Amino acid sequence: MDISNKNNININGAKITVIGLGESGEAAALLGAHLGANIFMSDGGSTPDILDRKKRLISQGITIEIGGHTDKIYDAELWVLSPGIPQDASMVLTAKEKNIPVVSEIEFGSWFTQAPILALTGSNGKTTSVHLLSEMCNTEKISPALSGNVGTAFSKVILKDLKDNPINRVHILEISSFQMENIVHFKPFISIFLNITPDHLDRYPGMDDYIQAKMNMIQNQTNKEHIVYNDDDPILRKNFEDALPITHGFSILGKGETQFTMNATKIYDDAHATLIQLDQLALPGRHNLANALAAATAANILGVPNSRIAQVMSTFGGVKHRLEKVLEINGVTYYNDSKATNVDAVKVALDSFDTSIHLILGGKDKGGEFSQLLPHAQNKVKEIVAYGQAGEKISRALRDAVKLEQVSSLKDAVEICHLNADAGDIVLLSPGCASFDQFTNFEERGDVFKSIVKELTQS
Ligand code: ADP
Repeated sequence: MDISNKNNININGAKITVIGLGESGEAAALLGAHLGANIFMSDGGSTPDILDRKKRLISQGITIEIGGHTDKIYDAELWVLSPGIPQDASMVLTAKEKNIPVVSEIEFGSWFTQAPILALTGSNGKTTSVHLLSEMCNTEKISPALSGNVGTAFSKVILKDLKDNPINRVHILEISSFQMENIVHFKPFISIFLNITPDHLDRYPGMDDYIQAKMNMIQNQTNKEHIVYNDDDPILRKNFEDALPITHGFSILGKGETQFTMNATKIYDDAHATLIQLDQLALPGRHNLANALAAATAANILGVPNSRIAQVMSTFGGVKHRLEKVLEINGVTYYNDSKATNVDAVKVALDSFDTSIHLILGGKDKGGEFSQLLPHAQNKVKEIVAYGQAGEKISRALRDAVKLEQVSSLKDAVEICHLNADAGDIVLLSPGCASFDQFTNFEERGDVFKSIVKELTQS
């Protein structure tokens, strides 16, 4: 199939293989089927999720194989490849040898919309920032739709839009580096880069390859499109020095020429008018200042008024399970940061507060060095309560430096903090571990934490 000109792509009647029955695979298959393609799906696994999806999709007239890939996958004019499959997998190489174009689900979806796309990527803070941006854009003149890595697959939104035809649509996409592989025409109106730290080095041969994968996001942008980037990040600054698109840095260090600039007390715009006082920001932590500036800069490019940007900054309380404020009981505030599944995320959480903290750590160990928390805990963490499978390891790493108790369950941990905390203190679940020893995922762990905290109000 010739996909060299985006405007001439017609998949009606085309044979398309979708590899992977995940969320994005399902969405691409349904979009393709809606547009008249003959879809064949193939997945090497056969988990309950995959079986469920298979049942659903077969009823939509889609042909499916699971538990392995047969040669039928090569009987295709186009492949839509799941981001879970590495580029050097032998079946991907074979498809390319057979001259079958291989594209990602994000690329595929983008063929069927004319609406502007705002695509945001980074190592940390993506989910928080896309939610902030979406809220800021949610105005009379813009109808934002959030998708990508964040829950709803892009192609699902595209299919719904083809049916509903909404006006003033702007797509806001959360993008992981894997989703930027197999891009051909994908061209964001604004691409947003939060930060780049070493991550996923198991998948990429080295840091340069990882950076390159993220840079695919700007490969089709011209001097009519925009890049918003963190000017405090040396890798990003260097990469965008001579970029063709219009570049807009943001900085929490108050550096450079930026749309919004920060000083010690406030954020002001390029005409020196105050946008917001820092003490009015709803989200805690310096890291969230970066997230807010990224979102504000992109919203400003789209013409969102400063009043709306400031309103969202002062009211947006965060995304569930990320430093989420749960309740205040007798002057003690409880925060759920269940998404903090590694030691680096716990450091960021500790750096977000100046008050005394009762920190709950624990869960399934991911090999983190808990002693690295000490510089961030000094004069701040009153006690640590360690629970779960990693409890012993955490205790050994920290008990000589901080008051520490070890318990088996999350419930016991919360109750100890409740007993010991004084008015003005914070109880923070920022576990620094995976959840799988006692919970299905970090969301379930966070929900259980919140219900334990709510029960405290009834005791
Ligand atoms: P992502 O979607 O990239 O995983 P989230 O918004 O879900 O990011 O935040 C996950 C965790 O990453 C947060 O709990 C916080 O500890 C940390 N974090 C968030 N924003 C930033 C940032 N700008 N820089 C560094 N760490 C951050």
